[in-house]
Amino acid sequence: MNEQVRIVIIGGGIAGCSALYHLAKMGCTDALLLERDELTSGSTWHAAGNVPTYSTSWSVMKVQSYTAALYRELAQDPNSPISYHVTGSVRLAHSDERFAEFRHVTSMANAQGMGYDMLTPAQLVERYPLVKTHDLVGALWDPLDGDIDPSQVTQAMARAARAMGARVRRFERVVGLVQHANHSWTVTSRTADGDENTVECEVVVNAAGYRAGEVMSLIGRHLPIAHMSHQYYVTDEIAELAARETPLPLLRDPDTSYYLRQERNSFILGPYEWKATAMWQDRIPDQFANQLWSEDLERLEPQILDAGERVPVLGEAGIARVVNGPIPYAPDGNPYLGPERGLRNFFHCNTFSFGIAQGGGAGKAIAEWILEGRPAIDIWSIDRRRYKYYATTQYTIDKAIEVYQNEYAMGFPFEERPAGRPSYTSPLYETLKAKGAYFGARGGWERPTWFDTNVGTSKAVTDHSLSFFRRNGWREQVAQECAAARNGVAVLDLPGFTKIEIKGTGAEAYLDHLLCTKLPKTGRVTLCYALLPDGKMLSEFTLSKIADQHFYAVGAASAEWHDLDVLEAALPADGSVTLTNVTADYGSLIVVGPRSRDVLAQVTTSPLDNDSFPWLSVRDIDTAVGPVRALRVNYVGELGWELHAANDQLVALYTSIWAAGEQYGIRDFGIYAVDSLRLDKGYRGWKGDIEIGYSPFDASLDRFVDLSKPDFVGKEPLVAEWKQGPAWRFVSMTLDQPGDADAPFCSSIFDGAGDNANNIGLATSGGWSFTLNKSVALGYVRPQFEEPGAKVYIKIFGEVVAATVGSEPLFDPGNERPRA
Ligand SMILES: Cc1cc2nc3c(=O)[nH]c(=O)nc-3n(C[C@H](O)[C@H](O)[C@H](O)COP(=O)(O)OP(=O)(O)OC[C@H]3O[C@@H](n4cnc5c(N)ncnc54)[C@H](O)[C@@H]3O)c2cc1C
Repeated sequence: MNEQVRIVIIGGGIAGCSALYHLAKMGCTDALLLERDELTSGSTWHAAGNVPTYSTSWSVMKVQSYTAALYRELAQDPNSPISYHVTGSVRLAHSDERFAEFRHVTSMANAQGMGYDMLTPAQLVERYPLVKTHDLVGALWDPLDGDIDPSQVTQAMARAARAMGARVRRFERVVGLVQHANHSWTVTSRTADGDENTVECEVVVNAAGYRAGEVMSLIGRHLPIAHMSHQYYVTDEIAELAARETPLPLLRDPDTSYYLRQERNSFILGPYEWKATAMWQDRIPDQFANQLWSEDLERLEPQILDAGERVPVLGEAGIARVVNGPIPYAPDGNPYLGPERGLRNFFHCNTFSFGIAQGGGAGKAIAEWILEGRPAIDIWSIDRRRYKYYATTQYTIDKAIEVYQNEYAMGFPFEERPAGRPSYTSPLYETLKAKGAYFGARGGWERPTWFDTNVGTSKAVTDHSLSFFRRNGWREQVAQECAAARNGVAVLDLPGFTKIEIKGTGAEAYLDHLLCTKLPKTGRVTLCYALLPDGKMLSEFTLSKIADQHFYAVGAASAEWHDLDVLEAALPADGSVTLTNVTADYGSLIVVGPRSRDVLAQVTTSPLDNDSFPWLSVRDIDTAVGPVRALRVNYVGELGWELHAANDQLVALYTSIWAAGEQYGIRDFGIYAVDSLRLDKGYRGWKGDIEIGYSPFDASLDRFVDLSKPDFVGKEPLVAEWKQGPAWRFVSMTLDQPGDADAPFCSSIFDGAGDNANNIGLATSGGWSFTLNKSVALGYVRPQFEEPGAKVYIKIFGEVVAATVGSEPLFDPGNERPRA
């Protein structure tokens, strides 16, 4: 058999069937799903079936709330009965910190149209009479939570997709994938009888669940995937449950780390235990399908005992059966969606740790990506390309264990979890560590977060505790780092920037079409934006023009694979442009502050005055370690330079800068200080402040859009938007009363403090400005609130805090300091 079809989906679990369903729903029925065994025979059949909408991530919450809405709709179909109980859920808070987290998530959910609420212990008992509340602060109520039969909903989507014209073939395992020069694929599959079929298709979707890594090995690629054993048990029947007229809501106790839900007249208890266990570290047994592992309840003992005290009728119930099955895990516990790096027409929709809760939204997103070129919402946090080569098998296992252990833990800002690190380090790593540097990994690269200048002495910082509220123990050190950058001179080793050389006779025309910004002239540097065809922001580059038809693009550390895909996809077919990825070859030293010129002048004989080397320009300067590319630009808004030096130059270059700087009191600084300093200047962060939901006009980046260019990707919709006026504007705000917490990511912004206030925006950055001594938030508001002086109200961990829109930037509005 040799057939043709547009799209082949590999795997018939919830993810594959949802992808097929959404493709068909969007009009693409020329799609075939191949399943090696029976539908749902991977992880899906034995899932507990919980469908939470709760997430601390804005985009994952959107994916999950769509999923729950879809299931409610599917469950209405009388021809396809699905056992779906929308019971609502309660999440217990043992501490004020946890309660604060819940209050923030509640405001996120409210902003997404979901009626989350906070409960006092007494209100909790009204909803859940069987719970003990003596040690609780309160709880969160999610009215949309519930449980679904995972096999039924998967079958329902498969059935609906078939009814629309898409096809499903079972007992047909994909054993070969070959891509052709025109980017189409030949998919070879093998039936249970050993017969081989081939299918010619345009697009392949890997929805193979815990076997997604096996599918990648068919094309010689690695997938960072671990397989965690997860268990729940079902109790014997419980009289108190049988006596109830309505089922209890789901209960989660995140501080103890378990979920508990009613299953008919019994309970299901599912802990995320500390003794997290990664299985199949070598390979997955070929025959494993529709199977479970044998039980190991000892691992769950602490949670079982605790849950039994929390809900005493549970403690008295016997255990009827145990389910111990495989859950695939990425290093951060999020799934993989979207394109495989550098491979056209290959998409991921796999590695779901919560596939029942996310499958609906994920299937929609992948169908949109394939058919429309982009998902409706920005889902970078689950994009496959967020993990580069550093995510080895061992790294993935270490991280998966850590994330499983912390599945319900609070995600504090400034928490840098240790497992699997370090991956990529700068040549200066050990030197800086010895000087008191603490590190955080960004895109796999270890970057100094802050320095304890008293390391090794009795004055060393001892308070490393984490909190939403208390600004951390190292705060004073970061304040000093900021002061050095603003008033003296400071140096930062910042490895991992994405760095790409763009050369060739077609380079200028290629970039001019790809970017909406006016390109820099030779020797100059400009911040540039690449847009999607619909005019929304796809990526950001600091672009230097080194010479005629030679550019140098710098992007975020985590953006390397994303940006390479963006740049490669736009390359002209005539070979007139070449891209060279030099990310790993070059490091960067950031030297900033009013004395930075004095320091650098001792390191180079090249002129650094404003005429020879003005702000926003690029030069090769000579140094004792040879020529170094210097960009007079920085992310903190000071006089300063980024020195992009080869890795073998870095240590000696740093040493010479330090020696020259000592007379000026030079200080090392880290990325926590950078984050404070960039807020003063309103500098946007990639995928925090800048994402595909917004246009550059929404983001108030008007000056980076050149509508006079003859053409560029996304121009037409931008012209229309310019005439009509954007839907949003990006502003800098300061809290009128700073309180004890800064605005967390995705805080809602209102036009008043009362209950009837309207939601008018979203804060996408928040933090403490050590320069202004204020709490600063950046974010999107409706245009009528963009004028400086406008009053807005930001919901910070449940408290409505008045804030004032400032003129951007809040600090040094004329940019006198960087051009000094
Ligand atoms: C005990 C337990 C409880 C859980 N409870 C929940 C819960 O309450 N809520 C929740 O959201 N999640 C839960 N999960 C997780 C959930 O089960 C998974 O996230 C989800 O089922 C993954 O779905 P999937 O479609 O990605 O993968 P799978 O269901 O594993 O489907 C992948 C399919 O691909 C097929 N396949 C593989 N290789 C090939 C090939 N080469 N050719 C053709 N077909 C192939 C497999 O046979 C399989 O059917 C639980 C997991 C466990 C273990």
